[in-house]
Amino acid sequence: MSLLVVGSVAFDSVHTPTASRERVLGGSAVYCSYAASYFTPVHLVGVVGEDWPAEHTELLRARGIDMSGLRVIPGAETFRWTGKYLPNMNDRETLEVHLNVFAQFDPVLTAPQRECPYVFLANGSPRLQLKTLQQMRQPRLVVADTMDLWIREEHDELMRLFRRLDGVVLNDSEARLLTQDENIVEAGRKVRAMGPKFVVIKKGEHGAMYFSERRTIVLPAYPTPQVVDPTGAGDSFAGGMMGYLAENGRDDPDAIKVAMAYGTLVASFNVEDFSLDRMRRIERRAVDDRMAEYREMLRL
Ligand code: AMP
Repeated sequence: MSLLVVGSVAFDSVHTPTASRERVLGGSAVYCSYAASYFTPVHLVGVVGEDWPAEHTELLRARGIDMSGLRVIPGAETFRWTGKYLPNMNDRETLEVHLNVFAQFDPVLTAPQRECPYVFLANGSPRLQLKTLQQMRQPRLVVADTMDLWIREEHDELMRLFRRLDGVVLNDSEARLLTQDENIVEAGRKVRAMGPKFVVIKKGEHGAMYFSERRTIVLPAYPTPQVVDPTGAGDSFAGGMMGYLAENGRDDPDAIKVAMAYGTLVASFNVEDFSLDRMRRIERRAVDDRMAEYREMLRL
């Protein structure tokens, strides 16, 4: 089944303690769509400016992603984000965010896009996420991501969105910021009280947790020794997770557990190089091979 992804399409500048890259392909919708494309057909919805190179679009199209939902606005500039990682490679500082064309994005979905049963509202303004959701026909599973900027600056709109979600994916610091609770289990409960039926909390190198009314799931990260650039780890996690659920037409907790494992593994590849460079070099087979190894690691 198909997955619709809406979110940022960006030029990222990334500084790690040992290397930097300027203006590379990034954005929440880009990482998420690419990761999901190993599993299921994906429709990307996003916006860029005139400065956007066609080769970036081609790269995504080459993986079978439907790029007809990418609007190019003449005379405008693409969203830009600059981040710097601390020596632990888990914590980062945002140095610059230029929303540019992304600030005013008003998506109009086509009929096939509206029909997608699986929807991932990747990191972007809650206003954009709501506008997208309002156009969907009868989605089976709607999950959203967000980040500190929107939690601080568009809180009311975010709460309006949360009331309409099946699930939300957050990292631990965002869950704490949103709930003002340091305890991650309590934070999970408080996020669910805001509307979503389940919450997935990502904890970087410490793995991910899932909370719903009846189930708690805890998964470790895949222990890759080669962390080059963690940018997009959260988005590729979500892409792998949603892609697996759409591929199998499922949304129950047992399937979400396997889906989170796939998300973990796609993200583990993603952090092994800058931008999409590592994911570009693998096929689905490599993810399944790592899954066999990961299952063995988890066996008690
Ligand atoms: P992640 O490392 O998974 O949190 O995602 C990083 C990606 O999110 C980068 O490619 C950025 O371009 C994008 N990004 C950063 N800030 C924002 C924002 N405020 N809204 C949407 N996307 C963002």
